[in-house]
Amino acid sequence: MDTEFVVEKIADDLPFGQADGIAGDKIAEAAGLEVMGRVDTLITSPAILVDVDTDSEGRMLDDDGCGDGRVTALIKRGRNVLRNSVNKHRAKVFGGGSTMAMADLVGSDRAAGTLSETFGKAIDALEDGEIDFGAHTGHAEDGSCGCGAIDKAPAMVGAVGTYAEQIEGVVELLKDKLVSKSQDGAAAGLGALLADNHLSDIFKNFQAFSAKTAGQEYRGKTVMDQIAGEGKIIKDLEGGHLEARIILNCVRGTTVNQGLVHEVSDGKADVFAVDVWRLQDLAERLHPDDITKQQRAFQSMVVYTLSVAAILTNGKLPVYVVRPVEEPARTPEREPELTAA
Ligand SMILES: [Zn+2]
Repeated sequence: MDTEFVVEKIADDLPFGQADGIAGDKIAEAAGLEVMGRVDTLITSPAILVDVDTDSEGRMLDDDGCGDGRVTALIKRGRNVLRNSVNKHRAKVFGGGSTMAMADLVGSDRAAGTLSETFGKAIDALEDGEIDFGAHTGHAEDGSCGCGAIDKAPAMVGAVGTYAEQIEGVVELLKDKLVSKSQDGAAAGLGALLADNHLSDIFKNFQAFSAKTAGQEYRGKTVMDQIAGEGKIIKDLEGGHLEARIILNCVRGTTVNQGLVHEVSDGKADVFAVDVWRLQDLAERLHPDDITKQQRAFQSMVVYTLSVAAILTNGKLPVYVVRPVEEPARTPEREPELTAA
C-alpha cells in the first residue's frame, strides 16, 4: 500500500436504527473501555487498512464480499467447499456487489417485477459488465441465507422512504467529509459522482418499488442460490454480531482489516466495513461513459448502504471515514508514509 490516508470519526451515532438491532453501544460496553481503547487505536492507525489480495497472476481480486464483521468459517466457490483455501482480503460492500447492483436498479427505476427478479437482473448486469462479485452466508432460519443485507432487503428497500430525510443528512455529511477535504484523484472521482443530487428521484423510486412489491414472497436463500449458481466465492461466517463501529474506506485497492480488529479485541468487538471506492468502481463499470447513470448508481448504492445500517443496527455505532490525503510533491527516493489522525 503506498497511499497516505487519514482516519476521521465523523459521527458518534447514526440518525436511525431499530431498538432490537445490533447494539454498538452495548457491545462496546460489554467489551470494556480497555478493549475498545485498543480497537479505536487500531482504527486510527495505518494498520487498519490492508491491500486487497491478488490472484495467481498478480491482478487485484475483482470479486467482493459483505461488510459484515463476523469471522469466516468456511469458503465455497458456488456450492463446492474450497479445501485448504486461504481467506483472502477482498473489497466489501453490504451484501456484496449483486446487492449494490440491485440498489442501482431500484434507485434508477429499472427494477424487475419482484425483488428476487431484480436481484437476478442485477447479477446479469454484473456478468454483462464482466464485474466479479461475491457474497456470504451464515446461521439462518429456513428461507434465509444469513446475510442481513439480502435477507432483510424488503425492509431495507422500504426503509429508504421512512428515513429519507435522515439518509439525505448523512449523504450531505459524507459529501462534506469525503469530497471537500481532499482534492486527490480518488476523492475527485467521488466529487463527480456526488456533483448532481439525484436523491429525490432515488427516494421516489425506492418508495414506488416498495409499494409495488409489498406482500410479495421473498426469500434471501433464493438470491443466494442464484449467486452460488454463478460459481461465485461465498464465505460462510460464524459467531454472533459484535460490530461496535462502522468504517467507510475510500482508499482504492485497500480494505478494512476486520480480522485484525477481531484479534486486538480478543474477539469481543468487530467493525462493519464499507469500501466506498468499490461502490464508485461498480457504478463506473456498470455504466461506462455515462456520468448521470454513474451518479444515480453510486447514490443509490450509498442510500441502500445507509438503509442496511438503519435496519440491522440500533444506530448507536460511531462512524469513521478513511480517505486518501492529497498527494504531496515527494522526491522519488522518499518512502511513502502512512499517517493517521
Ligand atoms: Zn452480509
